[in-house]
Formats: sequence, structure tokens, C-alpha cells
Amino acid sequence: MNLILLGPPGAGKGTQSERLMDAYDLVQLSTGEMLRQETKLKSKLGDEAKVLMDAGKLVPDDLIIAMISGRIDDTKGAGVILDGFPRTTAQAEVLDQMLVDKGMQLDRVIQIEIPEPEVIARLTGRFSCAKCGTGYHEVFNKPKVAEICDKCGSKEFVRRSDDNVETARSRLRAYHEQTAPILPYYEAAGRLSTVDGMGGVDQVFARIKEIVEGA
Ligand code: ADP
Ligand code: ADP
Ligand code: ZN
Repeated sequence: MNLILLGPPGAGKGTQSERLMDAYDLVQLSTGEMLRQETKLKSKLGDEAKVLMDAGKLVPDDLIIAMISGRIDDTKGAGVILDGFPRTTAQAEVLDQMLVDKGMQLDRVIQIEIPEPEVIARLTGRFSCAKCGTGYHEVFNKPKVAEICDKCGSKEFVRRSDDNVETARSRLRAYHEQTAPILPYYEAAGRLSTVDGMGGVDQVFARIKEIVEGA
């Protein structure tokens, strides 16, 4: 099974990917995560991407496409969750061809919707485990035991430099201008399902599960 998760920043794509990976044995491919790795490594791609990411702008399509193709091959046939890719119509079109070339099918595109004020509240409270990457929120999705990761027990957490109010606003703008136009493309292909991203993490997951099991 191969899925795409779409939705504005903070919609819960990463959080729901964690659940989907466990429940259906899928591999998550997050282009945002790959780019953050590159910036840590200070590669040429990482340096170029960092400036754009911190400004809340998208990284050019050709760089993203070159990065993701090999990563899909690395999964060696396991089902994938594409989180944060595609983000432009050009990326969606290239992905279609890429899937044909790799002999893969796209089962569902799941759009997670949340209202705009929620985007800012979610992004500005987001943090994650420095060791295993599990995502949390300081108000909505706290670790069960304060300051200890539920999954790996680590006490070290990190925040993203782009999770501030100003950058969040530009990311939201980029979403509306460049990413939302992909939705009609998948709708026309009969692949799109939309879920309400409001409510608890478990509640949203139950909605997604229903779609996945009907896919
Ligand atoms: P995305 O990957 O779409 O940017 P995340 O999954 O990282 O979004 O979620 C953004 C923030 O909101 C995180 O801090 C996460 O813990 C929190 N969050 C995720 N799902 C929910 C939910 N259903 N209700 C409240 N907060 C949530
Ligand atoms: P979020 O969790 O807020 O949805 P991501 O982690 O997916 O954010 O992405 C962080 C940043 O990385 C984006 O603001 C953008 O600069 C860059 N990025 C990630 N994926 C893509 C993509 N597919 N195309 C262009 N830029 C991307
Ligand atoms: Zn952890």
C-alpha cells in the first residue's frame, strides 16, 4: 500500500505517519525530514535548502525530485507513506511518472484539514525527541511522563527553527499558493479522501484508518 498525506503545516501528517507505520508496516518518507538531515550534514543541498526553509519557502522542485527518487528505491518494495511530498503540481506530475517507472501504484491521497488559527497553535508548540524523532506538542500532545520520550525514554528534545509565528505564516501561504492546487489533480483522478484533522490524535487516526481500510 502506498499513501500520500497532504495538508497544511501542522495538520498532523508526521503524527499520523507514526501511527500508520506501526499499524500497516509502512515506511515513511518525509522530504522535510530528509532536508533537515542534509542541513545537519551541511551538504550543498542542505545549505541551499536551509535558507529557504527558514524563510518558509519551498525548495526547488528539481532538488526535491532528485532527492526522493532514490529514497523510494531504497525502501525495496515496502509500502510507503509520502509525507510532505508532492508539494507542487510539477512534483505531483513527476511522481506519477516515477510510480509508473517503478511499477508502483498509488492507493490513496489523504488530505488532513485544520483551520488556520490551529496551524499557528500547533507549530509554535511542536517539539520532538532528539533521539527517535517522535513528535509532541507542549499543550495538545505531551509525553505521558513529563520530559521523557514515550517511545525511547530519552530526555532530550528538539524544536525546529522554522516553527515560529512568522515562518509559519509564510509556510501557510506557500501551502495555499503552491500545494493546495494539487488537490483537484488527485480529486479528478478519484484518489483523494479528506479527513477532519481536529480532535485527538487517536480520533483523527480512526478516521484515516477507515479510509485506508476501504482503499
Ligand atoms: P505536520 O507533519 O502535518 O506538520 P505534525 O504531525 O508534526 O504536523 O503535528 C504538528 C503539531 O501538532 C505537533 O506538535 C503534534 O504533536 C501536534 N498534533 C498532531 N496531531 C494533533 C491533534 N490531532 N490534535 C492536537 N495536536 C496535534
Ligand atoms: P511541515 O511539517 O510543516 O509540513 P515539512 O517538514 O514537510 O513541514 O517541510 C519543512 C520545509 O522543508 C518546508 O517549509 C519546505 O521549505 C521544505 N520542503 C519539504 N518538503 C518539500 C517539498 N516536497 N518541496 C519543496 N520544499 C519542501
Ligand atoms: Zn524518543
